[in-house]
Amino acid sequence: MSKEKAVDQVKLMDKIVSLAKRRGFVYQSSEIYGGLNGCWDYGPLGVEMLNNVKQQWWKNMTYRENVEGIDASILMHPRVWEASGHVENFTDPMVDCKQCKSRYRVDVLFEEMSVKKKKDVLRELEPERFGGQQKDEVIVEEFEKIASGDDAMTKILTLSSCPNCGNKGTFTDARKFNLMFKTFVGPVEDSSAAVYLRPETAQGIFVNFLNVQSASRQKLPFGIAQIGKAFRNEINTKNFLFRTREFEQMEMQFFVKEGTDDHWFEFWRSQRLQWFSDLGMKKEKLRWHRHEKDKLAHYAKDAYDIEYEFPFGWGEIEGVHNRTNYDLSRHQEFSKKSLEYYDEESKAKFIPYVIETSAGASRSFMAFLVDAYHEEQAPTAEGTTEERVVLKLHPKLAPNKVAVFPLVNRDGMPELARKIEEFLRPHLRVFYDDSGAVGRRYRRQDEVGTPFCVTVDSQTLQDQTVTVRDRDSMKQERVSTERLREYFAAKLL
Ligand code: ATP
Repeated sequence: MSKEKAVDQVKLMDKIVSLAKRRGFVYQSSEIYGGLNGCWDYGPLGVEMLNNVKQQWWKNMTYRENVEGIDASILMHPRVWEASGHVENFTDPMVDCKQCKSRYRVDVLFEEMSVKKKKDVLRELEPERFGGQQKDEVIVEEFEKIASGDDAMTKILTLSSCPNCGNKGTFTDARKFNLMFKTFVGPVEDSSAAVYLRPETAQGIFVNFLNVQSASRQKLPFGIAQIGKAFRNEINTKNFLFRTREFEQMEMQFFVKEGTDDHWFEFWRSQRLQWFSDLGMKKEKLRWHRHEKDKLAHYAKDAYDIEYEFPFGWGEIEGVHNRTNYDLSRHQEFSKKSLEYYDEESKAKFIPYVIETSAGASRSFMAFLVDAYHEEQAPTAEGTTEERVVLKLHPKLAPNKVAVFPLVNRDGMPELARKIEEFLRPHLRVFYDDSGAVGRRYRRQDEVGTPFCVTVDSQTLQDQTVTVRDRDSMKQERVSTERLREYFAAKLL
């Protein structure tokens, strides 16, 4: 990315974050106290839009014959996280400076290292490869790859200086830092009472596999879906809602017979990408990233991420994974309760394979918001043009569906407009606005993505028709007030 483009993209992100705050989509958590890093609050329009994202996912995933929903608790038995591998493996490396006692997470330390320093380090580690001239991007990329290996990490640490006291080679060996938040059940804060805030929703599904299967009398293949909060004590929380410490996930585990897993993996991959594009996300901003074989989790057979091109670069919004029979086998081993499925056809008992679709609700929300943001030139009443900011959200995701305006606040127009508002409100989220010039009212609705504006004018008083203005085309048409409900039902529901 050129420097100019990078600056534009930073500005774009700033504009979106500022709009999100100004118009009541997203606020920093506990802002009046200086904020809490990695935590965000959804305002009146934000919560509506987030609920719409979740509702669309829920409908798409569970209104199927072979997918059931659940809502498991956030706190679970601590053994769950031993079985899942989170206690041992859900970690990031951390170091202390022996000189000044400052503590760092290794990835942050490395990320904040200057490109020049990274180049010096690479030269020292591999003089033949990095002796010549390389572009900054290549240095950064290669550094990242090399630094993720354990041996290289130790060597790099000996070559690094402490950002606080400036001493070189004073870091301790890296230790593991677990990303799970720990808390205690009951009044005694000792290790026997320790539990974790779940770092993913998936485990609530695995431990309920047989409960759901027997209650719903499902046969393989079938899935269990859940939407809920997850918590991770993330190191790097920048980029707005992308990486936060508290977030929501929308996950589905699809249980299948071994041997049919490749088929279902492809099936769910195509369903999930389609979901994002059906909700209006630009196709050219979406791509697949396949996990390289040597980077796959040891139990995973295959894994792809759906990535979205954010202003700060490509980032994962959803993972689709073939998790084999690992999770259920581990829970069977740790709980000592059979989690085998009895297959009536073959009269065999076995532990099913799992295809997982794991999306972030908050990350998807952010991707939909970014994707919808447009700045364009729009004609004014005076025959000139002006810039308008418009969120071209899919109508199903837009927080307000229709805005109703009286053209002027007299001649019975407000009363009529209020009647229309009342008439639509039981069916749609409606916003009433009678302040300022109508052009400005349109702009205010464009900025929050309201798909339609209804204006009551003098003609309405004569023939009971109103103008309906389309957010994207800005075209207006006259619709009779009687027909409004069916008109919007066809376009919005
Ligand atoms: P990343 O590599 O970006 O940390 P991950 O591979 O750890 O993500 P998963 O564990 O597969 O992510 O979680 C599934 C989804 O949950 C991700 O695709 C993302 O949308 C969401 N997610 C994960 N971590 C966070 C976070 N810290 N903040 C917001 N959303 C998150």
